[in-house]
Amino acid sequence: MQAARHARLMSRTTSRTLVRSHVHVQKLFLTTSTSRAQLGSVASTAAAASQTPPPSPPPSQGRWRHFLQTLGRVTLVTVVGASATFYYIAHKEKHPGSQLPFDPSKKTLVILGSGWGATSLLKGLDTSDYNTIVVSPKNFFLFTPLLPSVAVGTLNARSIVQPTRYLTRHKSRQVLVIEAEAKEVDPVNKTVTLSDDSEIQGQISSTTIPYDYLVYAVGAETQTFGIPGVKEHACFMKELHDAEKMQRRFLDCVESAAFPGQSDDEKDRLLHMVVVGGGPTGIELSGELRDFLEEDLKSWYPELASRIRITLVEALPNVLPSFSKELIAYTERTFKESEIEILTKTMVRKVNEKSVVLKGPDGVEREVPCGMVVWAAGNTGRQITRDLMAKLPEDQTNKRGINIDDYLRMKGSRDIFAIGDCTASSYAPTAQVASQQGSYLARVFKLLAKKDRLEGDLTHAETSETAEKLKKQVDKVKLKPFHYSHQGSLAYIGSDKAIADLPIFGREWTSGGVATFMFWRSAYLSTLFSLRNRSLVAGDWVRVKLWGRDVSRE
Ligand code: FAD
Ligand code: MG
Repeated sequence: MQAARHARLMSRTTSRTLVRSHVHVQKLFLTTSTSRAQLGSVASTAAAASQTPPPSPPPSQGRWRHFLQTLGRVTLVTVVGASATFYYIAHKEKHPGSQLPFDPSKKTLVILGSGWGATSLLKGLDTSDYNTIVVSPKNFFLFTPLLPSVAVGTLNARSIVQPTRYLTRHKSRQVLVIEAEAKEVDPVNKTVTLSDDSEIQGQISSTTIPYDYLVYAVGAETQTFGIPGVKEHACFMKELHDAEKMQRRFLDCVESAAFPGQSDDEKDRLLHMVVVGGGPTGIELSGELRDFLEEDLKSWYPELASRIRITLVEALPNVLPSFSKELIAYTERTFKESEIEILTKTMVRKVNEKSVVLKGPDGVEREVPCGMVVWAAGNTGRQITRDLMAKLPEDQTNKRGINIDDYLRMKGSRDIFAIGDCTASSYAPTAQVASQQGSYLARVFKLLAKKDRLEGDLTHAETSETAEKLKKQVDKVKLKPFHYSHQGSLAYIGSDKAIADLPIFGREWTSGGVATFMFWRSAYLSTLFSLRNRSLVAGDWVRVKLWGRDVSRE
């Protein structure tokens, strides 16, 4: 009883307090010019409104609200779903599980290299079939198509590399990764001798390992054609450290040109950049340099930016020989607008510390002063490749690289497969070819493992019937020859423009411009090997759009 009275009292007091505070709030909100009369009229209108039902909103307004609500919900679900998936994949990439140990009954597969060919093989390989060993002086995979972007700071160097262990630790059976350079392959005794040539070495830095199968994917070196001064004075564009070196040198030239008292001639020399090689790498590099100049250097070095010159030198009659005529013309036009000079039918005769000697189509040699020469011209075999070929002189006579058969087997050998830039085939030395060859070999090794298993069973067959059955199964395991499927050619040409030659439904489709640039970006994003690299690269693009490229120099 008492409790009920207490509750009634409390509720009356509370409602009175509420009314009082409501009026107080109303007073606070009313400006001094608002009269009591106005307040009264507002109150009476509100009372009238509470008696008559509010008019229902027009049907179009209702539909609009419904649409916005649905859109909001869909967006929310999408964002939450995408974030959860992103987190799940990132977590999975970061936390590899346990792996099967090496199995002495399995064959040993040694892979030399961690580039395009080797990495795509590793990606597709079922490591439970083999004891796999990877040997490479680099413990990472480098996404070469985006290397020119690193050279000007559009991308961070680390964004386009993937440590090899990030891949191998996710395989079903453990893979031994050795950071070392293969020094010698012995195709007779089936061994590889390797050594750790890095700055820091342990007590053991050299060893010889046996193999049952060897995949030779060591790539190629930059071709200098024996031209004097190239090795000493030019920057290459092949490895990650080449791009980092070029970025440092370029900014060094700019800062040296900004040194007080520098003569105009010296400024012009320091700010003249010569790119040698009119293939996709040379073109992309020139385009990236132009972007750096237009988008950043003009802001930070306004007094020097107008002096920076970019010259592209190509020995052939035109740049980009692998692209269609239309796109070559489009690139040349874009470069003209960007004030990048293209010198075709021009040979480099010599590279000096402060100049480059060029021989033009008129046959006249002239010395051109410059601050930096970037060499992006051609491939040649590595010493170890030449040594290996010399061990099989009857079958390995091609100067361009290793001769392979239709199954990518090194001619003259049964157990060595060779892929990518170290081979001499009818295909261009591209990442596309090397990665398709790597994926093909993953399938080949699956079949070889099956065949080995069946043959092992055959030797232990107890009845002739079983043996006959197994023999038939062995005969059924047939390798199909490698077939290359060209997915098209893409290149960035600067000024947010790219060019593309794409085979679509058997026809060649060419396009160039800003839309193609968007396509170029999305194609490369999807080709990157991991979610980590994709997010790092996308983040770098956003960073450069917002803050520009870094002009600090180590
Ligand atoms: P690589 O990828 O070069 O790999 C060779 C591997 O072998 C490396 O890991 C290296 O460290 C290792 N190695 C070297 N010596 C030894 C040794 N003694 N023992 C063990 N391992 C060794 N192609 C395209 O299709 N599209 C492009 O847009 C494109 N852009 C490019 C841009 C640039 C700047 C460059 C340089 C190349 C570009 N390419 C492109 C070409 C492409 O990168 C090559 O064709 C591809 O890398 C070849 O793959 P690979 O596996 O044969 O060799
Ligand atoms: Mg070391």
